[in-house]
Amino acid sequence: MAKRDFYEILGVSRDADVKTIKQAYRRLAMEYHPDRNPGNPEAEARFKDASEAYGVLSDPEKRELYDRYGHEGLQGQGGFTGVEDIFSSFGDIFSEFFAGDIFGRRRGSRPPRPARGADLRYDLVLTFEEALRGTKKSIELAQLRRCQTCDGIGAEPGTAPAMCPTCRGHGQVVQRTGFMTLATVCPTCSGSGHTIETPCKVCSGTGRAPFTRKVNATVPPGVDTGMRLRIGSEGEEPDSGGSKGDLYIFITVEQSERFVRDGNDLLTRVQVPYTQAILGHTVEIDLVGEPVRVDIPPGTQPSERLRVEGKGAPFIGRKGSGDLFVEVVVTIPKALTKKQQEMVRLLDKLHRETEMN
Ligand SMILES: [Zn+2]
Ligand SMILES: [Zn+2]
Repeated sequence: MAKRDFYEILGVSRDADVKTIKQAYRRLAMEYHPDRNPGNPEAEARFKDASEAYGVLSDPEKRELYDRYGHEGLQGQGGFTGVEDIFSSFGDIFSEFFAGDIFGRRRGSRPPRPARGADLRYDLVLTFEEALRGTKKSIELAQLRRCQTCDGIGAEPGTAPAMCPTCRGHGQVVQRTGFMTLATVCPTCSGSGHTIETPCKVCSGTGRAPFTRKVNATVPPGVDTGMRLRIGSEGEEPDSGGSKGDLYIFITVEQSERFVRDGNDLLTRVQVPYTQAILGHTVEIDLVGEPVRVDIPPGTQPSERLRVEGKGAPFIGRKGSGDLFVEVVVTIPKALTKKQQEMVRLLDKLHRETEMN
C-alpha cells in the first residue's frame, strides 16, 4: 500500500505554515488519541500516521526533504515504532495540547495528589496516677478543614480561580536538558494548576480554615513519658476525597513525689523503725489509691529492696504488670526514754555475750 501524503493526512495545504500544521495535528491527535479510543486499531493507525506527518512537517529540514523527494527523501525518518515512541518524542506537545484535559494528565504530567489528610500531633500531660491507672480525656483539637465559605477552592464566593499562567494548568513545569525531562511542581501555583485572584476572606485563599473539634481519647493504663497513642482517622481531612490522617497523642507523665518509674517497675521508699526491721513487720503503702501490704521480714537491712510482684505499671498491649520495689529506710531514734535506754543497754549486753560464746 502506498504511503499517504503527509499534507493529505493532516488535511492542510502544501504551503501551510507551522501554526496551521500544529493546529491540524492537535485536532487529529485529540480525536484519535489512544486514551480516547482504547482497543481501536484503526484509530491507533490514524494517530500514528498523523504523528508521523506532523513529525516531518513540523521540522523544516525534514519538510524540505519531503517536499523535494517525497517519502523516498526521508529514508524512513520520521516513522514511529509505536504509540509510546510518539509520546516520548512529543511528550511536551501533548501536555500543551491537552492542557486542562484529563487525557493530557495521564502520561506522567501531574503528580498524584496525596489521597490522605495530614496527621495531627497533640501533646497530653498526665498525672502519675492517670498514667498508671489509665484515663479518658476529651481533647480539643485546633485543626484545618476544607473552608466552608469557598468550599475549599480558595476563591471568594462569586469569583473563580484562573488557570495558572506559569504551568497552564498542569501543576508542574517541565525542563528539558538533553534527553532528560525534569518535571517539578509549579512554583507559581504549588501544583494546583490555578491561581486565585480574589482570595476567600475566611481562609485567605488557602481553601482550608481552622476550627476546633473534640476528640475522646482513651488512655490505657501503664503509659509513660515518650509514648504516643495513635487514634486513627482523627487527623486532618484531605483536600479532596481520600481518607483523613491520624491523630498522634504524645504522652508526658508528671513526676510523682513518692514513686520513681523504671520501665514498668516502680520504686518507692518506706521508713521502718529499727526495732521493726529487726523483728519483722507488715507495712501498708498507698499506691495511688490502692493499699498495698508489704511484708518486712525479720532482720531486714537498711536500704534493702523488697519486691512486690505485679504491683508495677501495667504492660501496654499484653497482660501483666511490672513489679513494685520497696526500699527500706531504717530509722534510728535520736533520743530514748530512760526505760528505752535500759532496754537497749540490756540488749547490747546480750548481744556481746552471744558474740563471746
Ligand atoms: Zn475559603
Ligand atoms: Zn502553576
